[in-house]
Amino acid sequence: MNQTIIIPRTLANRLLTLAQLTPDVEICGLISKNNQQKYQVYPIDNIASDKSCVFEMQPEQQINAFKLIREKQQDLFAIYHSHPDSEAIPSKKDLNDAAYTEALNIIISLSTKGVLDMRGYFYKNDKVETVDLIIE
Ligand SMILES: [Zn+2]
Repeated sequence: MNQTIIIPRTLANRLLTLAQLTPDVEICGLISKNNQQKYQVYPIDNIASDKSCVFEMQPEQQINAFKLIREKQQDLFAIYHSHPDSEAIPSKKDLNDAAYTEALNIIISLSTKGVLDMRGYFYKNDKVETVDLIIE
């Protein structure tokens, strides 16, 4: 049975809006959560050479986001990115680049016009665990 994780609708909408702002390139960033169950999104520039199908977080922004998360005593909740033209399924590169095995990976797909396709995964030792995201 898949693990289930609740995503507040406001957070899901925020991620979808960010993805739709640049529908031709993958967006990426971090999401933190504090002990009052408050989520914060840290968008990070994608510096990959082919942003239409790959993401690579801008290193200083990424370090800075982690620093802020620590300073505000939040926890890393998820790493998100978008797929402009493909389903919300991790690519080979997504799996190869996976660095944080304890963080949820959220993929937002824009390939399904009008229908929210947001899926979650844990990447554990070359194994992909699908998470059932419950948006409420
Ligand atoms: Zn991807």
